[in-house]
Amino acid sequence: MYLARQHGVVHELSLCQAIAGVVKPHAAGRHVDVVRVQVGALRQVVPESLEFCWSLVCEHLDDSMTDTQLELEFLPAEVACRPCGERSVIDSRWSVCCAKCESVDVEVLRGNEFLVTSIEVS
Ligand SMILES: [Zn+2]
Repeated sequence: MYLARQHGVVHELSLCQAIAGVVKPHAAGRHVDVVRVQVGALRQVVPESLEFCWSLVCEHLDDSMTDTQLELEFLPAEVACRPCGERSVIDSRWSVCCAKCESVDVEVLRGNEFLVTSIEVS
């Protein structure tokens, strides 16, 4: 359990560093007020961990990203079942299987998004 939690935070920390890396050049020295991010359900992101890591990452950057708000928009995942052909929308990030026959032999159509959609600067 301890290891799993650690792993989760490391995962989220690297995502936050990736967000900061995308945002910083766009801000070009201005203060960043809000960053909006779309996260696919299959990213297995825990919102609380992401926000916690975000505050850590912001602390270690320069003044342009102090108190920057992270707004998350979660997108459902969609899979296509290979055995039966059914398309299922998945909103639980922990089980990925066909809604019709419960097969786990599925092709992921969407749900791996991780995108900075917009930022607000001042
Ligand atoms: Zn199926």
